[in-house]
Amino acid sequence: MFEANILTILIATLIIIYLTAMLLTKMQKAKQLEQEAEELKKSLDNMDEQAKIIVRTDIELNRIQEELDKKISGLYALQKLSHSISMTLVEDQIFQRLSPEHIDELGFEKSLVFLWDKKRGAFFLKTALGYLEEEKELISSHLNGNKEKFLNIIEADKTLSSITMPDNFIDKNTLHSIFKTNYFIIAPILPKQSECGFIFIGTEKTDTLVTEGDEELIKILATQLGQALENARLFEKTWNSQRELEEKVGERTQELTAALEEVKKMNKRKTDFVSSVSHELRTPLTSIKGYAAILLTGKLGEIPAEAKQRLDKINRHSDELGHIVNELLDISRIESGKVTMSLEPWDLREVINKTEDLLSGQLKEKKINLEILLQPKDFRVLIDQTQIGRVFINLIGNAMKFTPADGKISISAKKNEGLIQVDVSDTGCGIPPEAKDSIFEEFFRVENSINQEVKGTGLGLALVKRIIEAHQGKIWVNSIMGKGTTFSFTLAQG
Ligand code: ADP
Repeated sequence: MFEANILTILIATLIIIYLTAMLLTKMQKAKQLEQEAEELKKSLDNMDEQAKIIVRTDIELNRIQEELDKKISGLYALQKLSHSISMTLVEDQIFQRLSPEHIDELGFEKSLVFLWDKKRGAFFLKTALGYLEEEKELISSHLNGNKEKFLNIIEADKTLSSITMPDNFIDKNTLHSIFKTNYFIIAPILPKQSECGFIFIGTEKTDTLVTEGDEELIKILATQLGQALENARLFEKTWNSQRELEEKVGERTQELTAALEEVKKMNKRKTDFVSSVSHELRTPLTSIKGYAAILLTGKLGEIPAEAKQRLDKINRHSDELGHIVNELLDISRIESGKVTMSLEPWDLREVINKTEDLLSGQLKEKKINLEILLQPKDFRVLIDQTQIGRVFINLIGNAMKFTPADGKISISAKKNEGLIQVDVSDTGCGIPPEAKDSIFEEFFRVENSINQEVKGTGLGLALVKRIIEAHQGKIWVNSIMGKGTTFSFTLAQG
C-alpha cells in the first residue's frame, strides 16, 4: 500500500514535471509568436509607408508629365507661330499671324499687343484676340492712364505674370473687369532700333495656373515678335531707300539726257561753225597763194630780193593755214557724218606697208627703226583704207616727232573681244599723265621743248579719234614719261 502510494506520488510528480516542461515550452513559443507578430506589424507599417510614398510619387510624376505635355505642346505651338511670323516682312502682317488657334495651343484665349508711339507719347493697340471693341478701348485707356508702370516693365525687360507681378501692378478687380482674365503673362517686345511694346496673354479660366514654363514660352514669343518687327522695319527702310535711289537715278538720267542733248546741239553748232568758217577761209587763202605764186614767177615784173623772201613766207604760211583749214574741215565733216566711211576688208599688214613706204625717207633721216610685228594675212580688218592710212600716218608721224634718233617704233596687233587691237609704240619722251585726257582734243599740245621747236597744229589726234570712232572703234593711250608711248585702237574684223 505504502509502495503504491509512493508510486502514485512519483507518477504524479513526473506528470507535474512533464506538464511544467510543456507549459514552459508553450510559454516560450507564445513569446516567440508575440515577437514575430510584433515584427510583422512593423513590416506592415513599413509597407504602408512605402505605399503612401509610391502614391505620392505617382501623383507628382503625373503632374510633371502633365506639365511636360503642356510645355511640349506650347513649344510646338510656339515653333509654328515663330515660323509663321518670320515668313513676313510686313509689319502689320506679323501681328495678324497671331491667331486664336495659336494662343489656344499655348493654353490661353486672350491676347493683346501694344506698341509705344514715341511721338504721341502713348501706347497704341496693334492686335487683340478675344476682346470686344469696347473692351479694347477700355484697356487702351487704362493702359495709357498707367503708362509709366508698363513702360517700366519694358525698360527693365521683365516678363511678369499674375503670380510674379509686384503688388499694385494690376489689382484683382482691374484684372477681372478690364482685362477680363484671371491669369496673365506680360512680356516686353524690344526690337533693337525701333519702337518697343509688349504682349499680354491671359485666360479667364480659374483652374489654369500660370507656370514658370509658360512665362518662358511667352518671353520667347515676345523676342521673336521683336526680331520680326526689327526685320520688317529694316526691310521697309531698305525698300524705301531703294525706291528713293531709283527715283533719283531716274531724275539724274533725265537731267543727263537733257544735258547730253544740249551738248550734242552745241557740238553740232560748233561743227557747223568750224565747217563754214573753214570754207570761207579756203577761198581767200587760195587767192593769196595764187597771187603770191604769180608774183614769184616774175611775170608781172622783177621782184626785189626782200619782197621775194616775204612772198616765200606768205606762200609757206598759206600752205600751213591751208593744211589747218583742211584738217578742221575733215574733223567737222567726219563728226557731222558728212563723210561716210567706205568700208572694205583689207589685210592690215598691207595698209601699214603703204604708210611705211610713205614715211621711209623721214624714218631713215631720223635714224628711227620701224618694227612691224605682224605678217601679211595675219589680220583682216573692215576699214576705209584711205582714212585708216591717215590714222597710221598721224600716229607714226607723231611717234617720229617725239622719239629721239636711234629710237624705235613698233606696230603690233592682236585679237581682243572679237575686235582687232592695233598698238603703235615708241621709245619717245612720253606724255605726262595729266595730259592723257586732253591730247585728243582739238588744238591741244603738251608744253614741252620738242613742241616749242617743232611746228604742229594739235589737230592730228583729234582727226585720228574721229576716224576711229567713225569705224565704231575706240582709241586710248598708255605712256611712261621718258620711256615711251603706246597708242592703241580697235577695228572690226574683215
Ligand atoms: P601735233 O602733233 O600737231 O601737236 P597732235 O594732235 O597729233 O598734234 O598731238 C597732240 C599732242 O600730243 C602733241 O603736241 C604731243 O604733245 C602729244 N603727242 C602725240 N603723240 C605723241 C607721242 N607719240 N609721244 C609724245 N607725245 C605725243
